[in-house]
Amino acid sequence: MTGDRTTPANFITRFAPSPTGLLHLGHGFSALTAWDAAQAAGGEFLLRIEDIDIARARPEYEAAIYEDLAWLGMTWPEPVLRQSERLSVYAAALEKLEGLGVTYPCRCTRADIHAALSAPQEGAAHIGSHGAVYPGTCRGRAMVECGPGDAIRLDLDRALALLGEQELTWRETGAAHAGTHKLDCDAMRQQIGDVVLGRKDISAAAYHLSVVVDDAAQGITHVIRGEDLLETTPIHRLLQALLDLPVPVWHHHALIRDAAGKRLAKRNDACAIRTYREAGRTPEDVRRMMFAT
Ligand code: GLU
Repeated sequence: MTGDRTTPANFITRFAPSPTGLLHLGHGFSALTAWDAAQAAGGEFLLRIEDIDIARARPEYEAAIYEDLAWLGMTWPEPVLRQSERLSVYAAALEKLEGLGVTYPCRCTRADIHAALSAPQEGAAHIGSHGAVYPGTCRGRAMVECGPGDAIRLDLDRALALLGEQELTWRETGAAHAGTHKLDCDAMRQQIGDVVLGRKDISAAAYHLSVVVDDAAQGITHVIRGEDLLETTPIHRLLQALLDLPVPVWHHHALIRDAAGKRLAKRNDACAIRTYREAGRTPEDVRRMMFAT
């Protein structure tokens, strides 16, 4: 499915696993949903290894990703994009955001943030859809004050102000969320806040930044992923606007759950694709299991 590189496919999607565990049925479902969509559209399916979490990423899990996806019948163009090789690209994006004046250095520890969240003068505790919303303790610190170990955060209010009246919209095709969505600034302040984008001292990038930069670099037209990531879409859309990147269509699919209705965790090796493979199941058996739940 490599296609003719000189005429970009009008449907390019990707599967972007983090090699921090064995792929389980939920990952397989996500990968196959993207693969099937690419096949149906006559488009391209790309693989991206999201291995920027160096403390957790392991080469043996990356090898297992290639093996499991190939076993399930998928192919992808080589070389595969590995995020750990692109730190300078993310650093350049971070610098661009810094140039726009929408970042600040943050020296708060996790404990500081939790303490601020529970302090009455800070108002009601703010736990958003993706964990604690940063209370803004370091907001207003200038980038020249950035010290070793500081995280770089997006100043959401400044970013929104910079974009002014510009209306940010995006299209979603996942059955449960289909339609055109519009950036809701108040909801973003409540649910997401000033996210971490990376660190300058060690050229580290955080998920929101690397995913947006790489979707653009890979020419992704359709982001297909689980609905656990649905609420990250507004921040991705905002970063695309700030960085002047093309806007894909999103498709968030439902998550596979176990018999008790709980989301499958990566640590649950009982549901690992490899476990089924070693138990003698065929790729067709496993596909049936995923699409029947
Ligand atoms: N690497 C992310 C994960 O494994 C997926 C990123 C995405 O699809 O946007 O959850």
